[in-house]
Amino acid sequence: MTAKCPCSGCGTNLEFDIENEGESIVCPVCAHSTRLYRDNPAITRIPPLNRESGRVRTSGEWFKWGFVVVAFVITGAVASYYHDLDETASFLVKASLSLGLYFFPAFVGRNKRNAKAILVLNLFLGWTLIGWVIALVWACVKDPGEK
Ligand SMILES: [Zn+2]
Repeated sequence: MTAKCPCSGCGTNLEFDIENEGESIVCPVCAHSTRLYRDNPAITRIPPLNRESGRVRTSGEWFKWGFVVVAFVITGAVASYYHDLDETASFLVKASLSLGLYFFPAFVGRNKRNAKAILVLNLFLGWTLIGWVIALVWACVKDPGEK
């Protein structure tokens, strides 16, 4: 995407790639040093908004993984209080494998429009094999408009 701004020396409209916005260049017409900027606020405001939502999504992702790690550590601490370390390790492996298998449909459908509904079905009816299969099939169904 390109934009135009007038040179501060001669006023010639200079076309530039918006990625170079904010940089100083030497004007090809008058050899004056000028800064590249966009004066259309509607266009200027779009990239920072996108960056913001990207940042929020990233911190949400970290929160999710942090939650998983904390749950894992607490489970391990509780289990090791009652059992020895070997038993705890094998318990954690079995627990995470079966939890991973149990929530596999919700994981597959995590980016779907109905991700929350799939998770609820998975959570409450996943223990009935048919509920688990329905959740998995639902998670594989394409959203409208999805390629
Ligand atoms: Zn110029």
